[in-house]
Amino acid sequence: MSKVIHEKEKCIGCGACAAVCPDFWEMADDGKAHLKGSKKSGDNFELSVDDVGCNEDAANTCPVQCIKIE
Ligand code: SF4
Repeated sequence: MSKVIHEKEKCIGCGACAAVCPDFWEMADDGKAHLKGSKKSGDNFELSVDDVGCNEDAANTCPVQCIKIE
């Protein structure tokens, strides 16, 4: 089991994650990315996954490195 973490405060809303990993990421009305199905945890949003799938690509493409995988 892995955890995908979105440090939303740092997100600049570039849309790259949603472009490379639309199964997990979408752009929200606030202009920032949203990790689908995630839950708020402090300042971050987190999602537990069995298979990180394209989240690796999303993390690698994010220009401000606000997507983490643990
Ligand atoms: S790639 Fe990073 S900065 Fe760009 S929208 Fe996604 S989370 Fe935000």
